[in-house]
Amino acid sequence: ITIYVPRDSNALALGANETAAAIAKEAKARSVDIKLVRNGSRGMFWLEPLVEVATDAGRIGFGPIEEHEVAGLFDAGFHTGKIDKQAHPKALGLVEEIPYLKKQERLQFVRVGITDPVSLDDYLAHEGYVGLKKAIAMEPAAIVQEVTDSGLRGRGGAAFPTGIKWKTVLGAQADQKYIACNADEGDSGTFSDRMVMEDDPFMLIEGMTIAGIAVGATRGYIYVRSEYPHSIANLNEAIDNAKAAGYLGENILGSGRTFHLEVRKAAGAYVCGEETAMLESIEGKRGMVRAKPPLPALEGLFGKPTVINNVISLSAVPLILSRGAEFYKNYGMGRSRGTLPMQLAGNLKYGGLVEKAFGVTLRELLYDFGGGSESGRPIRAVQVGGPLGAYMPESLFDTPFDYEAFAAVDSTVGHGGLVAFDESVDMAKQARYAMHFCKAESCGKCTPCRIGSTRGVEVMDKIIANQNRPQQIKLLRDLCDVMVTGSLCAMGSMTPFPVLSALNHFPEDFGDQPMANA
Ligand code: SF4
Repeated sequence: ITIYVPRDSNALALGANETAAAIAKEAKARSVDIKLVRNGSRGMFWLEPLVEVATDAGRIGFGPIEEHEVAGLFDAGFHTGKIDKQAHPKALGLVEEIPYLKKQERLQFVRVGITDPVSLDDYLAHEGYVGLKKAIAMEPAAIVQEVTDSGLRGRGGAAFPTGIKWKTVLGAQADQKYIACNADEGDSGTFSDRMVMEDDPFMLIEGMTIAGIAVGATRGYIYVRSEYPHSIANLNEAIDNAKAAGYLGENILGSGRTFHLEVRKAAGAYVCGEETAMLESIEGKRGMVRAKPPLPALEGLFGKPTVINNVISLSAVPLILSRGAEFYKNYGMGRSRGTLPMQLAGNLKYGGLVEKAFGVTLRELLYDFGGGSESGRPIRAVQVGGPLGAYMPESLFDTPFDYEAFAAVDSTVGHGGLVAFDESVDMAKQARYAMHFCKAESCGKCTPCRIGSTRGVEVMDKIIANQNRPQQIKLLRDLCDVMVTGSLCAMGSMTPFPVLSALNHFPEDFGDQPMANA
């Protein structure tokens, strides 16, 4: 019988290794023959460690299962695969039937939680490398066209059309080109990149290989934040496995194409998620933002034409090639095509990963998936798109996830992370936090961000202390205006998003009435 216990860092943090060891020990003691597979996480974090057993009808789940509950599982006969939902208090029935999973549209995350992340055989058995095989038989320009036709836009936050970026690099003349993957996932409440790298790393490796073949780049780098040791380990193991089987390196699958891939560990600066600061860091320099132009697509890594994409953008590519642009494009709304793996975090009952086509509303995500607040109090605000994203009030919860619809209400989709706050939140303190975050993470290259954020914290302190509030609020708005228009990169120019959204949507927290307690 095959038993699955996730190896994702979320599951590990909740004791998955101990649970797995207890299952192996108990099976041995009872002379039960089991195959223990360490799969990725399904992304339903409140159920981790989620133990699954393969049956003829599909996988049945039990969770969360702690080490001390393992003997009870065996007593109930979970290893026979015949246990029904009533036979054990933690029995969940067929995992695929859990509404949180069933209601999703998992295109990219289709293997996540199902396969052993570093098993190439598992990957191949689940549509892996179909896209690469197709790409090898195509002209580079045709690959770029397919990606353009899919409507894929940068999932890291900027939402720039991926195919257009690739076309620029394809057209550039150079002796060397690069693919740089931004895996510095530093936004609060985001973890979809981590899940790809830990739970389905071949998908990213295949996407980068296709990108390399498409634009004529023979080298790629994955810039992974140092706080993700499991991602780094899984990527390196998967890269070795792909190389050994001829899917990476020289003469890929006998095609004469070459693509070398390397993982670079980041040094822990939020600003290195900005594409040009990331390039500086990969080159071994201090992570400082470069002025544009030149565009990295023409003069990027080591001064050479470079495709820079985020993990989710690149790992969407195998699917686009294997199923076709038309298939992918049929999901979504307006100019936001395909799906987005959204990350539910903060004060929610059911935090986790939800992949849905663009068009799903914030309310559906917060209530249908997230189950409302963990505290049971009404949700008052949601920050979407990381620490530089706007705070959205209840009146905007019906906004569909769509780049343009979000922009129309002065918000950003960003990397698809949601952090929910209940009514106890103090929005003036959240606005101060945004300024303080910018102050701490500013690279220091330009004045509006470096000095502006420091002055911003001071102004917020005066507002919170109720010192001449009307004048300080006017000053805050002026300061935000300077930061938006005068900053060199998104760090400084987007910090006003959370600050102004807090001020505009929650003016009562900046007024003369007493403030709610945080
Ligand atoms: Fe550096 Fe901030 Fe200027 Fe960006 S906006 S270049 S992070 S100082």
